[in-house]
Amino acid sequence: MKRLSILGSTGSIGVTTLDLVGRFPDRFAVVGLAAGSRVERVIEQARLFRPELVALGSEEAAREFRQGFPGFRGEVLSGPEGLVAVATAPGVDLVVSALVGAAGLMPTLAALQRGTAVALANKEVLVVGGDLVTRTARASNAPLIPLDSEHSALLQALDGQPREAVRRLILTASGGPFLHTPKAELAHVTVEQALRHPTWKMGSKITVDSATLMNKGLEVIEAHWLFGFPPGQIDVVVHPQSIVHSLVEYVDGSVLAQLAVPDMAIPIAFALSYPERLSLDHLPRLRLEEVGRLEFLTPDVERFPCLGLAYESLRLGGTAPAVLNAANEELVSAFLAGQIPFLAIPAGIERVLARHSPQLASSLEVLLAADHWAREEARNFVHVRA
Ligand code: NAD
Ligand code: MG
Repeated sequence: MKRLSILGSTGSIGVTTLDLVGRFPDRFAVVGLAAGSRVERVIEQARLFRPELVALGSEEAAREFRQGFPGFRGEVLSGPEGLVAVATAPGVDLVVSALVGAAGLMPTLAALQRGTAVALANKEVLVVGGDLVTRTARASNAPLIPLDSEHSALLQALDGQPREAVRRLILTASGGPFLHTPKAELAHVTVEQALRHPTWKMGSKITVDSATLMNKGLEVIEAHWLFGFPPGQIDVVVHPQSIVHSLVEYVDGSVLAQLAVPDMAIPIAFALSYPERLSLDHLPRLRLEEVGRLEFLTPDVERFPCLGLAYESLRLGGTAPAVLNAANEELVSAFLAGQIPFLAIPAGIERVLARHSPQLASSLEVLLAADHWAREEARNFVHVRA
């Protein structure tokens, strides 16, 4: 029996994770759940999975939970301390890190510090604190298992192969809803259009990131920290069908890929049961003859500057990726709130990054200060534009 804590239980990844837990009750149990504000949903989950510990985003939400579920026998906490408590609860074998944004850094680090395995969906954790997070995991021998579909594919395509034989990692990108939208039209796209992803159903922040291609940029940084290859050995190819989830090219010209229907249940299950595989009979099987065509295109970094900005931040190193991420979080939320147009997202990030002098990302404090500075800068940019 694997005992889980799930950070972000009401999100897209959290809900699919719990669905899998429900399908394999002899293999998984839930110790802790953490989520933001959708209290009704958390109560439902707590009734079903009987955790010992629940953490909500605010004290108000925690109160609502207690009132809505008076019979709950576990502990109910709130705020950042609540997240850390869920991540470090005694007896937890695996923390599913599926909050969105830099908010996941502290609880994920706390789990790794204790030596607890982490299944990582929250890619921003590695973008902000890749060096610190991977060093912490190594020091405590805590497995850091990728849950993102591309990184799950890479883990599988790298398995059992000599590392020095790798020529490059190739991440696939769906290209998002604006793959074929001309640059002039990108200036006017709406929030609703940006949220209409062609192949994946996900939370709104990552869906906008997919539309700007920042999601792929964040994933390049994530791949760098997870697998230890330099940016020059990590490439991106656009693959609109989202069937090939990523590939590894070897020095002899062989290319190994992982293919599957685009359903996050597959990489989530892989991360939950790693290195074993679960039988996912409830999912549709991949029928290549029905898919018919698999296309691959070069990403257009001119129309989608976020991808290039992410590479640039990785090459700059230190606090630069944390700044890129914080600026992106602020600008995406301003776009979602209707405060800035779509193309102001890359424009704002570029500006904030240009004003930043990267420092060594030596400690959590340095990273949080860079994150804080970049958010202020991005908010100023929004303010000036609005
Ligand atoms: P989501 O917006 O659907 O869910 C986020 C969850 O985190 C929710 O439960 C929310 O309540 C909780 N949360 C956010 N901030 C919080 C805070 N401060 N305190 C407590 N709870 C908080 O997001 P998602 O689509 O599930 O994505 C989660 C992460 O996984 C992101 O980093 C995303 O990039 C990554 N990811 C998602 C997918 C996907 O298919 N959705 C695929 C790959 C990677
Ligand atoms: Mg992904």
